Amino acid sequence: MFDSLSDRLGSVFDKLRGRGALNEADVREAMREVRIALLEADVALPVVRRFIDSVTEQAVGQSVLKSVTPGQQVVKIVNDALVEMLGGDDVPGLDLAAAPPVVIMMVGLQGSGKTTTTAKLAKLLKEKHGKKAMMASLDVNRPAAQEQLKVLGEQVDVATLPIIAGQQPVDIATRALQAAKLQAIDVLLLDTAGRLHVDQQLMDEMQAVAAISTPKEVLLVVDSLTGQDAVNVAQSFTAQVPLTGVVLTRMDGDARGGAALSMRAVTGKPIKFAGTGEKLDALEVFQPSRVAGRILG
Ligand code: GDP
Repeated sequence: MFDSLSDRLGSVFDKLRGRGALNEADVREAMREVRIALLEADVALPVVRRFIDSVTEQAVGQSVLKSVTPGQQVVKIVNDALVEMLGGDDVPGLDLAAAPPVVIMMVGLQGSGKTTTTAKLAKLLKEKHGKKAMMASLDVNRPAAQEQLKVLGEQVDVATLPIIAGQQPVDIATRALQAAKLQAIDVLLLDTAGRLHVDQQLMDEMQAVAAISTPKEVLLVVDSLTGQDAVNVAQSFTAQVPLTGVVLTRMDGDARGGAALSMRAVTGKPIKFAGTGEKLDALEVFQPSRVAGRILG
């Protein structure tokens, strides 16, 4: 992940640092190269524009150009702007402050890693937060989706709602809430149905489930390998579902990074977690400064 972006930026900044003095033209030339590197990494165009404008404005300031280490200062400005682009340093954790059962609704397209992430999150809530969790699959579209969650539940030792064949998503959610109340569950994770593409029926279903379950968190799961597509998917969901955050999966893959870098700006929502592998403990709290650090080497 980010390898080629990191290499490209590295060579731009090596050049800058190598010089004693910098003038405005040097900075503008470097920013032109940064712009191309970001676009090649598949970062959304409006996000790139805003980033370059903001960094250029700060970097051509006299205090930077007249400083003893102007190259170093420009790199610091870029680093801070990257952290900001990724959501700033204070990523809010999960908001679980409500009367139990607190509902977390997981949404996203089929294949994004939603079911796996639901199980990863249940495991994390149980082990790191000491919560009694339950999972329920509302995916009646994909054959075996409910069974898949059951198997994952057994692996992470978290209860899943018993499957009743033929039941529809809103009814499953209602039953899950009742079961969670009866069993004194702290957190109920609803793994909603995915689709291959965003469609209105999916959005209507998400809205109906949200209306009856009043989730405290609605997390959009997106595959970071899908680049610009992930950004388009996020835009569609943001417009129709009350998202509270994003989970980026396959951050262990060799994505160019555009999805990760665009997501915050496009959705306006924090990236809360990163999936970093197929194993059920491969879920990390997303830390913008660490990610920026990795990009800038
Ligand atoms: P869903 O259709 O969105 O529910 O997707 P699944 O949860 O079934 O995941 C699809 C595939 O992606 C599975 O093989 C998962 O093991 C894999 N997967 C999910 N998250 C990650 C991740 O963060 N990294 C990697 N390498 N694989 C993942």
